[in-house]
Amino acid sequence: MIKVDKDECDFCGACVAVCPADCIELFEEDIEIDIKKCTECKLCIYVCPIEVISYVEHETL
Ligand code: SF4
Ligand code: SF4
Repeated sequence: MIKVDKDECDFCGACVAVCPADCIELFEEDIEIDIKKCTECKLCIYVCPIEVISYVEHETL
């Protein structure tokens, strides 16, 4: 699944603009990815200018 490091994200919106599944929601100081809608295309990973999005096999608690 796709994960965002919310502490590092600067909420630029680049990932939102590129997501073909339209499943990233940006708030004033928060970002949420609807993993049920995410197709794991990884475009958001490539487009994030500060590389705070990553792909993990399983969610780590
Ligand atoms: S991996 Fe693709 S579908 Fe999933 S959040 Fe990123 S851009 Fe959207
Ligand atoms: S592209 Fe990266 S820095 Fe910009 S909003 Fe998305 S996760 Fe945050």
